[in-house]
Amino acid sequence: MNQLEKIDIEQESDAVHLHAKDPLAKIQNMVSACIQCGTCTGSCPNAFAMDLMPRQLWQLVLLEEKESIFSSKTFSLCSACYYCMLRCPRGLPLTEVMSALKQMAAKDDLPRYRKSIRFYKSFMHSVRCHGRVKETAFMTRYFISMKNPLTPFLFAPLGMRLMGKGKISFEGFSRGERVLEAIFRKVEAIEKG
Ligand code: SF4
Ligand code: SF4
Repeated sequence: MNQLEKIDIEQESDAVHLHAKDPLAKIQNMVSACIQCGTCTGSCPNAFAMDLMPRQLWQLVLLEEKESIFSSKTFSLCSACYYCMLRCPRGLPLTEVMSALKQMAAKDDLPRYRKSIRFYKSFMHSVRCHGRVKETAFMTRYFISMKNPLTPFLFAPLGMRLMGKGKISFEGFSRGERVLEAIFRKVEAIEKG
């Protein structure tokens, strides 16, 4: 192995180490080739509701402006439609960047995102256990995770309306129980690398 190859390997292993320590460094790498053309912003169907445009978000990521990034609701509004990613002239993995920011916020249990993270986790737990969302189990888990006895009351009017329209099922179902377990385990293994 020549000296140049050694340097390459050392740099690669430094980068892997850095990414493991600082997930933002990995995200910076994903958007480092951004030319700030704004095509992603122009393509995003949810941009109207975002406080920072996707193009601005990438710039803040590159500047390591963690406070601005995580006080924004932009990444939490991404619906993973992949439109920005398909149109980006640099072919950047923008939907994955949004997802990685969501994961960072969830991992750090940031108060601003706590409600939506717990809602999402309860939803996914229900899907994992029952093969589809089971409304009663899903919401019970969410209420318990919120540790606030008033939370169920906030949802009561919506729950009553949905019940009136027959949208909430109280039947237990056994078919499909744990049917998605293998898929969930596989995804977890892929995410851990
Ligand atoms: S479309 Fe791609 S290159 Fe253009 S601003 Fe968005 S991320 Fe950057
Ligand atoms: S993937 Fe997210 S950021 Fe990209 S266009 Fe769709 S909603 Fe907007």
